[in-house]
Amino acid sequence: MAGNYEKLLDATIQHLEDLQSHGIRHVAVAPETLRALSQPAKTGSTAAPVSKTEPPIPMPISLPKPTELSLALPGETVPAAAPLDPQAKEADFAALRERALACVKCPHLASSRKNVAFGVGSIDAQLMFVGEAPGADEDEQGEPFVGKAGQLLTKIIQATGLSRADVYIANILKCRPDTPGQSAGNRKPTSDEMATCIPYLHEQIDLIRPKVIVALGATAVEGLLGKTLGITKLRGTWKTYRGTPLMPTYHPAYLLRNQAMSEKRKVWEDMLAVMEKLEMPISEKQRNYFLKG
Ligand code: URA
Repeated sequence: MAGNYEKLLDATIQHLEDLQSHGIRHVAVAPETLRALSQPAKTGSTAAPVSKTEPPIPMPISLPKPTELSLALPGETVPAAAPLDPQAKEADFAALRERALACVKCPHLASSRKNVAFGVGSIDAQLMFVGEAPGADEDEQGEPFVGKAGQLLTKIIQATGLSRADVYIANILKCRPDTPGQSAGNRKPTSDEMATCIPYLHEQIDLIRPKVIVALGATAVEGLLGKTLGITKLRGTWKTYRGTPLMPTYHPAYLLRNQAMSEKRKVWEDMLAVMEKLEMPISEKQRNYFLKG
């Protein structure tokens, strides 16, 4: 059945992408399989016969990452990946950025964008913030979180004692969601746009390897963890993204809309939890931010 073939193909692509995200550069493929892959798909046939005599041919996967594969069985601990070579990491990150800047996978966004807002900050950051998508200001400047919500995020980061340059800031979508016929305003990314763009974020995270990820708002949580509870229920509770602790919190744009001290305090409590996880020093003054009286 054609449906099974498509499913098998999707599963194979997913498997290869998983290997790739674990730093695997080559997979062993039997010569017959390679030959069969270059043939059009036959109805009713699902796999090419594997040779018992010819040795497998190593086939390159296009994304290079010098780490070791860690495929743990359920219940097993995932061993720490080998450290990345700093120069290779920088080169891989630059290549990833080039690919994202030239991306036209969403033709409607590629034609409406002014700039791709790939990401900003240190590629060696221990702390990474993930938002939803660039707005008008980010589209203009090609940098995430530079508008009003971005300025508030910068203040939150600074309140922890860090600067924007110490952390890494990215979005689920690298292009501004288009708003045809409207000169202003934003819209939530569609599921298709998120699914198309998310591999760039996965690769950014795989290379940066932050110790903690902060997901800003419901769309960021959905993009990283899949559909889950609402952000009101999730915020303040530790989640895990591929082994990395992830703290969901409110998007700064929400704090701009709702100026209540109690909401600011919630985000700040989430940041205190993040600081504790990162073993950052916390002063008494910091502990008491946004507490009344
Ligand atoms: N909101 C986001 O989610 N990301 C930005 O970069 C700007 C605003």
